Amino acid sequence: MGFVILDLEFNNMRGISQYFPDIIEDNLDNMMENEIIEIGAVKYDVYMKELEELKCYIKPGIFKVLNPKVKEMTGITEEDLEKGISFSDAMNKLKEFCGTSNTICSWAKDDIAELIINSNYHGYKDINWINKYLDIQEYCTKVLAHKKSLSLKSALEELRIKVEEEKLHDALNDAKYTAEVFKRLYNSRVVKNYVVNDVYNMPAVMIRDFKDVILEDNKTEFKCPRCHIEAEKEHPLKLFSWRFLALGLCPKCKSRLLQEVVIKKSLSGQKIYSNISTIINESDYLNYSYRFKKIG
Ligand SMILES: [Zn+2]
Repeated sequence: MGFVILDLEFNNMRGISQYFPDIIEDNLDNMMENEIIEIGAVKYDVYMKELEELKCYIKPGIFKVLNPKVKEMTGITEEDLEKGISFSDAMNKLKEFCGTSNTICSWAKDDIAELIINSNYHGYKDINWINKYLDIQEYCTKVLAHKKSLSLKSALEELRIKVEEEKLHDALNDAKYTAEVFKRLYNSRVVKNYVVNDVYNMPAVMIRDFKDVILEDNKTEFKCPRCHIEAEKEHPLKLFSWRFLALGLCPKCKSRLLQEVVIKKSLSGQKIYSNISTIINESDYLNYSYRFKKIG
């Protein structure tokens, strides 16, 4: 009934053609974008006492080259990966390490999503042990009363946890730093409310390519957060890179309102909408209006 805090490092191929002109980046579209090359994990009991740690490198199977950017950021070398094990061996190790009763945790949902995406890609089927999950970023952001998702670095700063900069972006160290943050804010009764029991149906993957997304009107909502009544739209929803925005007015309190719609996918492929309406001031409203007109 404890926690396993997990962190992964990836070999991401974006921008690779500047180093290796032979790799045509368009070809990457249908491949997996983030191949896991390192797993770090630390296990804690219910009192957050450290029990055990795990660190392993995975030999890349998709691209044999290591993106120099990844190398620079993580300090992982080709030699490290040469000594690495296969994805399935690493997953077997992780499975054994996690056991069946612990809650798996990570800073933001990306890592758990990538774990499942990588498993699917490699045809690794034995992932039913991934069930109880806690997003420590979501938990800490709420507990520290921030509106925007905190980065691990800013959480460490806010809690005055000493960080050796060069130790960040190592899977095991990041897992440990995540644990330090979690320990400071840990409250077993509150944590319970954040544990997801159905990982596969939570909103986990940000949709990046909106070419094929048709906005479903019945899943969007634009209400004044103060009066809870429907806004009068001035600019209807329009795509701004990764989210849809709309502008309007509250018919009752006359506040200027911004609507944001973010669409995410669950790991089982379902689209999940999140709607946020906020009251904004006049100058922000004018700025947004300008951007709406600019994109036509
Ligand atoms: Zn209102």
